[in-house]
Amino acid sequence: MSLHKAKRNADLVDLRSAEEAQGLERWTVDRRFGIRIPAGCLNRIIKLSQKADRVETGGILVGRYVSTHHCAEVTDVSGAPSDSKHSVSRFLRGILGLQRWLNRLWSKNGTYYLGEWHYHPYAEAVPSSMDEDEIEDIAKSANYQCPEPLLLIVGGDPHHDWHWRAFVWTADARLTELVDIPEHHLGQTP
Ligand SMILES: [Zn+2]
Repeated sequence: MSLHKAKRNADLVDLRSAEEAQGLERWTVDRRFGIRIPAGCLNRIIKLSQKADRVETGGILVGRYVSTHHCAEVTDVSGAPSDSKHSVSRFLRGILGLQRWLNRLWSKNGTYYLGEWHYHPYAEAVPSSMDEDEIEDIAKSANYQCPEPLLLIVGGDPHHDWHWRAFVWTADARLTELVDIPEHHLGQTP
């Protein structure tokens, strides 16, 4: 390996550890919505996906919107409630135990339901039309009190080659992707 290459790899490692400390951040291109997720929460999602391996799994995202009100900071993720239904191309998240858990987090940390995560085994992290219908139902449901829910999807091989994508259901009734925008661009007008 050339010195130059070695230096570049070292930079990559540094960048990754800095990202892990602060959490990973993504934004919609218009910068109206952001998500920040700590590496620990993402690791938990990956571990749960590894365990599910060939079938879909998922859970909910919990956290809060930070001061500026448009960046969702994820602080906790759930696994799949025991009444969930899993298959190779379908996941129906159950509800058992979730409300109690949410109540506890609300009184302890003031954090609340932000949206859903799920895993597409050995497939692209692209929302299916059913995923879209489900997130729309949540956006409209009085039970959730969350008109703009997030959807985080993990795809690929969870052991060796996974990727994740994040979306937000916006008031104009569509899923918009949150993408990687370098931080020094965030303050600028697009
Ligand atoms: Zn899906």
